Amino acid sequence: MFLDKVNIRIASGRGGNGARTFRQEKFVACGGPDGGDGGRGGDVYLLASNDLNTLLDFKYKSFFKAEDGERGGRAHCSGKSGEDLIIKVPVGTVVRDNNAELTIADLRKDGDKVWIAQGGRGGRGNARFKSNTLRVPNFSEPGEAAIERELELELKMIADVGIIGFPNAGKSTFISKLSAAKPKIADYAFTTITPNLGVVKKQSGDSYVMADIPGLIEGASEGKGLGHQFLRHIERTKVLIHMIDVWGLIATNIDEYSTKAHEDSLNNFVQLNYELAYYSPKLKDRKQIIVLNKIEGYPQDELIKLVRRFEEYTGLKLASYEDIDSDSNFIALFTISAVTGEGLRELRQFIELALDKLESPFEEIELDDDTIATNHDDSHFTILKQDQSDSSVKWQVSCGKLERLMKITDITDLDSLQHLFYVTRAIGIIEEIKSRGAEEGDLLNIDGVDFEVTDAVLL
Ligand code: GDP
Ligand code: MG
Repeated sequence: MFLDKVNIRIASGRGGNGARTFRQEKFVACGGPDGGDGGRGGDVYLLASNDLNTLLDFKYKSFFKAEDGERGGRAHCSGKSGEDLIIKVPVGTVVRDNNAELTIADLRKDGDKVWIAQGGRGGRGNARFKSNTLRVPNFSEPGEAAIERELELELKMIADVGIIGFPNAGKSTFISKLSAAKPKIADYAFTTITPNLGVVKKQSGDSYVMADIPGLIEGASEGKGLGHQFLRHIERTKVLIHMIDVWGLIATNIDEYSTKAHEDSLNNFVQLNYELAYYSPKLKDRKQIIVLNKIEGYPQDELIKLVRRFEEYTGLKLASYEDIDSDSNFIALFTISAVTGEGLRELRQFIELALDKLESPFEEIELDDDTIATNHDDSHFTILKQDQSDSSVKWQVSCGKLERLMKITDITDLDSLQHLFYVTRAIGIIEEIKSRGAEEGDLLNIDGVDFEVTDAVLL
């Protein structure tokens, strides 16, 4: 399976809880509060890197979490902050948030980085709550929750040159002839549908990436065959090489050759262009270099006739550089033999020229402005009303923020309890049960602990 789309889950680090401690000194009976703040949780980033070519790694690991902040310590010691997490993805990855339906980033260049989720703030230690009216605060704040997101990563392979053509046109052979290096591509179950990438060195020294998109066959745009999913990968190429087997589909050697081959070659060309246009208007307008392949051993006079047919159809002149600026999709026509190497040098020069001249076709992917990397809010709640056997009522609260607070609340301490109820009220829970008919004597259950609803609570 070629992985060009995966879903992953990420979580930032949770903030560390604030500490609830008191000074312990010799000869001092009861010291003041000295609980430090919790550490900040780690952020999550995605980083585009040339080290990766595929999303295959994400098939084996799909959950990523930044480090949590550590809890605060005694003696005003702040907890250690959690490490940020930087997840490497291949260059060309588009990032979406599945739940929020946001397009977050389009990571095009090596080093492009996007902030995905902020770590939770550390909770304040009890030392921070000391005031004139409250000398010994026996509570602290929980750390802020982590942010969890479900992301879709889609790899839009960034090749400068895409090669299209029917099976057996000679695309793979051509790429292997030109490439200086073969980027590592993971092993896929079906090797025949692996896109074939080659890095081609320019005369100037730098290089470009060429991609052969296999499996593009008749009907691909209607979802037949394997071509459809691969068409996506050539959407971003600057120029397409449209490779044609001069022998047509039926003939594979000179003995089988018939005049019908001319017909087939041109038909294939027209057919494939139709498929491209049908699939994507973007590709319809992509510049094409037309390459007639396998010319060695082809009768010279027949080749001239075939070239003439292509020239008539496309308006091009064979091996001419003049049409590179034309408004037409077709900017050049070459004849080659990928096997013997005939014509490759000229074609290669032309490709370099075209890459220098042509604008990058990058369509802007529309990104959403607010990508909510900082939304820690887990104060939303649900309340379940349960009738008890003694005809009282229990209100079962489910709320992330309160549950976090409960875990570090000393419920035997009055100040702590007051803080808990302050937060409960501030979130809107009291208001909600009142409106649903709560009465004195009912129970309010938070994180497994029952609290009695008193008059004072309902005030
Ligand atoms: P692809 O399906 O387009 O990738 O085509 P391949 O590169 O796999 O080539 C298909 C067949 O055509 C192979 O047997 C190649 O050896 C052959 N082939 C490729 N280029 C040439 C050429 O210039 N001349 C001849 N005679 N055969 C070629
Ligand atoms: Mg191939």
